[in-house]
Amino acid sequence: TNRTFTMIKPDAVENGHIGGILNMITEAGFKIIALKLTQLTVADAKAFYEVHAARPFYGELVEFMSRGPIVAAILEKENAIADFRTLIGATNPADAAEGTIRKKYATSMGENAVHGSDSDENAGIESAFHFAGREQF
Ligand code: ATP
Repeated sequence: TNRTFTMIKPDAVENGHIGGILNMITEAGFKIIALKLTQLTVADAKAFYEVHAARPFYGELVEFMSRGPIVAAILEKENAIADFRTLIGATNPADAAEGTIRKKYATSMGENAVHGSDSDENAGIESAFHFAGREQF
């Protein structure tokens, strides 16, 4: 588990936090393997969050994640999945620990600034969704 996938979500891009978040990521020892500014279509967002399709917040989540540009990235570090989940903090910024990305940049439970893959398998699927092989260094 040396690689993870992340997105800087539309709220954080709108609020001008791309640089601040990428800085926290590299300061924490993650190497950037792939990086782009892109936007999810409604269909992309539905597919990406398919596991949450039955949840009451699914419609709101799909609308939010497709409303503007995001930054997609693949990150490399020993123990990448778990260490990145620690760096981003709890889903709800009110519960996020000091020093985490969500503590600093998230605005709410839904608009929480960043995504981090929850497993090796999902990191692979999510990375392939956004990046061709030649875009991964
Ligand atoms: P992510 O998958 O984005 O890294 P996570 O694993 O911390 O986040 P999940 O429970 O997988 O959180 O939820 C996925 C995303 O759905 C959250 O990051 C958040 O944007 C949104 N979400 C989760 N719970 C709620 C909620 N109760 N109300 C609104 N949005 C929510």
